[in-house]
Amino acid sequence: MQFIDLQSQLAHIRPAIDARIKKVLDHGQFIMGPEVFELEEKLADYVGVKRCISCANGTDALQLALMALGIGPGDTVITTAFSFFSTAEVIPLVGATPYFVDINPDTYNLCPSELQKGIAEAKAQGLSPKAVITVDMFGLPANYPAIENICQEHNLYLIEDAAQGFGGSINGKKAGCFGDIATTSFFPAKPLGCYGDGGAIFTNNDNLASLCDSMRVHGKGQHKYENIRIGMNSRLDTIQAAILLEKLEHFTAELNIRQQIAEQYNQQLAGQFKTPVVTSGYQSAWAQYTVQAKTENRDYWIDKLKRQGIPTAVYYPIGLNRQKAMECYSGLATPNTNLACESVFSLPMHQDLKIIQN
Ligand SMILES: *Cc1c(COP(=O)(O)O)cnc(C)c1O
Repeated sequence: MQFIDLQSQLAHIRPAIDARIKKVLDHGQFIMGPEVFELEEKLADYVGVKRCISCANGTDALQLALMALGIGPGDTVITTAFSFFSTAEVIPLVGATPYFVDINPDTYNLCPSELQKGIAEAKAQGLSPKAVITVDMFGLPANYPAIENICQEHNLYLIEDAAQGFGGSINGKKAGCFGDIATTSFFPAKPLGCYGDGGAIFTNNDNLASLCDSMRVHGKGQHKYENIRIGMNSRLDTIQAAILLEKLEHFTAELNIRQQIAEQYNQQLAGQFKTPVVTSGYQSAWAQYTVQAKTENRDYWIDKLKRQGIPTAVYYPIGLNRQKAMECYSGLATPNTNLACESVFSLPMHQDLKIIQN
């Protein structure tokens, strides 16, 4: 059994993927070909925002978002202690200071009341909070109704890291539409993955969108040899855009299957583990199906499953605030993050898991 079975997923759609790739090879516009712009339009429609700017990966998407917002030296960015490293890594990359706060123990997402506390505490320490980065952990959107209010009240930009959340929603509003600007990743194992690296930025703000559009191509002006600001080299390859156009066609059906698998896991594992909590009105994209064991039993379960041929993974064994690379930055105490790091593990999640009727 595979943890994420990309090969069998590909087998279902192989002829269509081959045809799309062939088309790119035939027209030869490998950089910024027509598929890139077609994809951006379709993704913006899917998410329900005005603008989508594709880029090279989800980490660059976050960095471009911070750059477009003008976040830099002297600014503090508040974020969750429980995420993949990129979420925090991009903050010092633009010269700003990360400040970590704890998660809600049920959703693993940034806790709104901890965010309130963190803003006050960071200010008391002489830091200048300018922005918040939230994460849609394991596919479940963060509590945006509460977090958007807090950000407005304190005049903070809000960046949604929807690398795992793409396809999720809150009362029908799709992940990628929250905050001032949102980002996602098309890394192969993400809910919508390509066959290489890829990423995208979403916003309703035309000014932020044109800044991102410029900054992903070396800060271009009217044309690519006019450079009006410092940017990056971060384009989505045309071939990856072509692959994503095909995968987007099958995405909703795939999300439905993931939902069914999650429900079956819930039924069969409740009582044995703490199963995922999805608040009413929320839809997870099920990037991961993650359960929580008793800390002292986690290794036992992982080992037992392994002996039965069932792969598992631990996302994440170390909180961002406990990573060596982040040791010079501060934040609040994070007991919920620490416990999650010691007790969670994720089970296989892909469309070819068998649904057992009983
Ligand atoms: C995967 C991931 C990223 C980074 O995406 P890449 O495309 O690998 O750069 C950022 N944030 C979160 C929460 C992720 O899971």
